[in-house]
Amino acid sequence: MFMTTRWMNLGLPSRARRAASAGAMALRARAATAGAVALLACAATAGGCLPGALAAQAPARTTIVMLGTGTPIPDPERAGPAVAIVVDSVAYLFDAGSGVVRRAAAAARDGIPALSAPRLGTLFLTHLHSDHTLGLNDVLFTPWIQGRTAPLELYGPPGTRRLVSGILDGNAEDIAERIASAGGPAAGGERANVHEIGEGEVYRDARITVRAFRVPHSGWAHAFGYQVTTPDRVIVLSGDARANPAIARACNRCDVLIHEVYSDSGFRTIPARRQPYHAQAHTSASELAAIATAARPKLLVLYHQLYFGASDARLLAEVRAGFAGAVVSARDLQRF
Ligand SMILES: [Zn+2]
Ligand SMILES: [Zn+2]
Repeated sequence: MFMTTRWMNLGLPSRARRAASAGAMALRARAATAGAVALLACAATAGGCLPGALAAQAPARTTIVMLGTGTPIPDPERAGPAVAIVVDSVAYLFDAGSGVVRRAAAAARDGIPALSAPRLGTLFLTHLHSDHTLGLNDVLFTPWIQGRTAPLELYGPPGTRRLVSGILDGNAEDIAERIASAGGPAAGGERANVHEIGEGEVYRDARITVRAFRVPHSGWAHAFGYQVTTPDRVIVLSGDARANPAIARACNRCDVLIHEVYSDSGFRTIPARRQPYHAQAHTSASELAAIATAARPKLLVLYHQLYFGASDARLLAEVRAGFAGAVVSARDLQRF
């Protein structure tokens, strides 16, 4: 129920709301099934409900917050690409586009304290295109200035260590001045423990397991999508990728598939010399429809939308022409 309410509060167009509601209904249906199982478990146990059965009726523990749905285009309505997956009271960031910490602060102010700046402690990068990393400086320094004392735990492709080293080196005077200032932050919280990753499980704690898988993206040697498993959701993020079979394998009836996309009709209007690049780098709406049909997510969320002049309604129509499931074209700060 809460999911529908959130979407309605955002004033989505009725079509988007219907699609979102369809996704919510699917998730609620699953919750109802879990509840029925819980009741049976209670009835079968003379001494009362099993702990596991109680857990099945617990409120959702996972919230996805679309911090930034943008692209390299400086759309004032869309921050650079960044997604937060919040489990219980802990936030995990995926990509750090321009504006990421301010969008996180907006979500924190709106009831998700896990996204307050000092608590941004873990970040996964899909690849090193600058639209996905321009906010890395922000995630390194702003939380530190606001009180984070531990280094950022940072997972990313080979090259991430060099990027961080350059950022720290370039900001050496800022760092030194702040540490030396009266009451300033302690040294260390501005740094990162960098984990350069390959395919497979890259992170696990009591709340979340993160598995990286390779995706083809233009000329990049290392670009990843992520499959994230929490206590109550399986979420797959495409990162930036042209159409490929790894997405459907990773999703395989997942709860939420968050996928980049460009408009087929918009694509036909861009200069011919630029079309090959985008076809090699990104996924068209019609290609995504085929991927989603194979992947069968309970909810498909579009982000990193490249409209190329097409409307949002047109983009959604292009996806829906080939995909019968629930789909939402995400906007910044939307939650799922
Ligand atoms: Zn991008
Ligand atoms: Zn990219």
